[in-house]
Amino acid sequence: MKPTSTRVLTEPFRIKMVEPLKLTTEEYRQEKLQQAGYNPFLLSSQDVFIDLLTDSGTGAMSDRQWAAMMTADESYAGARSWQRLEEVVKKLTGMPYVLPTHQGRAAERILYSLLGGKNKVFISNTHFDTTRANIEFSGATAIDVPIDVNQTEGTDADFKGNINLPVLQQLIHTHKPENIAAIIMTVTNNSSGGQPVSMENVKAVRAICDQHHLLLVIDGCRIAENSYFVKHREAGFQDKTYEEIAKEMLRLADAFVMSAKKDGLVNIGGLLTLKDEELSRQCTNLLIISEGFTTYGGLSGRDLDAMAVGLQEVFDPDYLHYRIRSTAYLGERLHAKGVPVIWPIGGHAVYVDAKKLYAHIPVEEYPGQVLVCDLYTKGGIRSVEVGSVMFGKYDEIKKLVPAKNELVRLAIPRRVYTQSHIDYVLEVFDDILTMRQQTRGLKIIKEPPFLRHFTAQFEKINK
Ligand SMILES: *Cc1c(COP(=O)(O)O)cnc(C)c1O
Repeated sequence: MKPTSTRVLTEPFRIKMVEPLKLTTEEYRQEKLQQAGYNPFLLSSQDVFIDLLTDSGTGAMSDRQWAAMMTADESYAGARSWQRLEEVVKKLTGMPYVLPTHQGRAAERILYSLLGGKNKVFISNTHFDTTRANIEFSGATAIDVPIDVNQTEGTDADFKGNINLPVLQQLIHTHKPENIAAIIMTVTNNSSGGQPVSMENVKAVRAICDQHHLLLVIDGCRIAENSYFVKHREAGFQDKTYEEIAKEMLRLADAFVMSAKKDGLVNIGGLLTLKDEELSRQCTNLLIISEGFTTYGGLSGRDLDAMAVGLQEVFDPDYLHYRIRSTAYLGERLHAKGVPVIWPIGGHAVYVDAKKLYAHIPVEEYPGQVLVCDLYTKGGIRSVEVGSVMFGKYDEIKKLVPAKNELVRLAIPRRVYTQSHIDYVLEVFDDILTMRQQTRGLKIIKEPPFLRHFTAQFEKINK
């Protein structure tokens, strides 16, 4: 588990517009956090110094994207902005039918409400939470079959985002091919730590889909980041460009859904692309009812143009190297300090194992949420718990059935923070390590029935 490179990360851009950040004291943050019920989702962003809550829609656009927005065409139908985006997306996916949507989940709702319904089954390496929600809302079932991996150890050659092929075969047999609505490959695998998926794995899924006449959907929010891992980890791809690798993978799919708020390098936008004409006609009907006409899908011409440029910039080798290495930089240095992290480091985020870090705090006292709170009070850093606050359930006597892991996600916005910001985060972790024995658990004092991590409120346990 050695760092693959110790060189200074040089950001392949310079800054021509700045957004001032407010510097606050620990006392100030303590007060704000208490007012927010120890849930940083409820903080005002101006009280956050380094915001690692999500990498979704939080990136910085380039001068070329802003310039493209100035020349955008806001016509209701057939706008030039749309034509520019459609051309880029057709070249990338090789699919003839392109539908723009306002974000990823809108594309999911359209596709999965048509494919889903009662008695239908979707199988995926891991369904992202909005994917699962849209599938279950249609009445269908979503089954995750990630490969068996040791989450905290591994080598840099691993593709921990892969689907478990033998289990996939078994499930198709058990549920019968006619009931399988689609196989969804999430690339990179967001819910399993942003871990990559190998080309070999997607090719094998394609062969299984062919054998049983099943639809293969790629949820490719981070298709460019995944291509980086394929090029550097999988044999036979060293000489291909990142874009060629993405094209090769997308050509294995029948449909592609994307939240452009990730590798589209924009703050809002999504895509649904299809090979099948009849399915695209049905999707288009739903698009017009809910998102807007087929040539804007709920977006302005400016948004479409920014996305067209972003989808090209994201494959720039200098950008992708910076992107993946800067995430790894944080993860490798945390690991070297003795902070337990999911290994190897994924593309868009570093996941800290709070159960190990705060071994003295029982899962019923939410060690992940405790770390989220400590990172904020110590350093003004905002992160998110991915553990029993997010996924825990209660049994009949209202005892917590904890999640499998108690993780804290540090998601890295694209092109926003510099190495010195990340070095600052590392220094805050030094404080976390020093005071780790003194830190105490939390209890929930208020929670909504669904998605409680967004609005639950907590209290410190003093003992
Ligand atoms: C973000 C995301 C989505 C949903 O996209 P939104 O733009 O947030 O609606 C779907 N799948 C994956 C893998 C994602 O990361």
